[in-house]
Amino acid sequence: MQTKRVAQVEEECVACGNCAKCCPFGAITVYKGLHAVVDEICCKGCGKCVVACPADVIVCKKREVESA
Ligand code: SF4
Ligand code: SF4
Repeated sequence: MQTKRVAQVEEECVACGNCAKCCPFGAITVYKGLHAVVDEICCKGCGKCVVACPADVIVCKKREVESA
């Protein structure tokens, strides 16, 4: 385990896909009609998805995640 900043999607996500389009590391998958899911190993915590989300439902937080 390691502690790092990763993006986290809240339940109110409307699956618009903006975050996935702007992620430079391809760390987000959007399930149409459901929500976005962040791959915690690929995410670098850059925060671009946070800025891109029109619904303001993705946040970047320090978390314990599995090591790559
Ligand atoms: S914080 Fe950066 S690397 Fe992580 S999911 Fe968002 S855009 Fe991608
Ligand atoms: S940009 Fe926001 S609302 Fe759109 S898919 Fe990503 S987290 Fe969900």
